Amino acid sequence: MTKISIVIPTYNEEENINNLIKRLQEVLTKIEDNYEIIFVLDPSTDKTEELIIEHTTDKRIKLIKLSRRFGQPAATMAGIKHSSGDNIVIIDADLQDPPELIIEMLDKMRNGYDVVYAKRISRDGETFVKKIISALGYRIINFFSDVYIPPDVGDFRIISKKVGIHLSSLKENSAFLRGLVSYVGFRQTSLEYKRDKRSFGKTKYNRFLGSLKIGLNGLIGFTSKPLQLMSAIGFCFSLVSFFIGLTYVIAKILGFTLTAGLPTTVLFITFFSGIQLIALGLLGEYIGRIYDEVKNRPQYIIDKTINFNED
Ligand code: UDP
Ligand code: MG
Repeated sequence: MTKISIVIPTYNEEENINNLIKRLQEVLTKIEDNYEIIFVLDPSTDKTEELIIEHTTDKRIKLIKLSRRFGQPAATMAGIKHSSGDNIVIIDADLQDPPELIIEMLDKMRNGYDVVYAKRISRDGETFVKKIISALGYRIINFFSDVYIPPDVGDFRIISKKVGIHLSSLKENSAFLRGLVSYVGFRQTSLEYKRDKRSFGKTKYNRFLGSLKIGLNGLIGFTSKPLQLMSAIGFCFSLVSFFIGLTYVIAKILGFTLTAGLPTTVLFITFFSGIQLIALGLLGEYIGRIYDEVKNRPQYIIDKTINFNED
């Protein structure tokens, strides 16, 4: 019998836990697989932990509690690393990703795929700003990036054990899961669905900054082309300024009287300082990443686990 692992990064989801487990179990009994449900908990300030622990009388429901809030990507990676199934489902705790879809996704997996990701055809309950940012973000990332990162795809997906093992072997700290899954490769396909509203509670992300941070993560983490682009732009502008200078000189030689030109000077100085600062900022962003990776800190630290064999 094959086994399916459900990995759920969780942070302050007390209103959703019971409902989520109920809906998952309904789906999982329809699939004739052995299963485990792994909650990876960023220490929460509400009753999430107690609620999960209540369910752990069922040995198939497992808990990994991290030592502090390491964030959704790190929590997800921890779950993948500790799962023992032949297929691994990654799903949010807030029921925005309908568990019922797992059945169809699993069917697709059985047609010989290693990754089936759920593609949103609509996003209920998300602000206009968030939609715009993510639409634009994906276009930009894919324009620059070396691996294709499908738009409108969240982390809701099934991956095979093989992909899980390869993902776990990557040690990047600023893990952009969607990008990493694309990077790992193998046969991947999508399944379309309608993304629901969050069942209860509020999003754990600052709408604007959160999406921006994820986008930047994808961009910086997967390509160094922006650096090349900055140099190219810088070069073009320098060339332009050289020719402007040349025209001034020629004009002078031909005997034209030039005005004092203070505004021009100011304009140019500010303009080029701007470009230099952008380039510097971008460089800094990459250097920061190098610094982070070089430190080689673990992606997460585990406080305790429940219902894993090693207990
Ligand atoms: N989450 C987490 N740690 C965090 C933030 C979020 O484990 O620091 C979990 C959260 O409990 C949920 C999933 O990640 O299961 C997605 O979070 P959320 O629904 O807030 O994100 P959104 O759907 O708004 O992008
Ligand atoms: Mg959500």
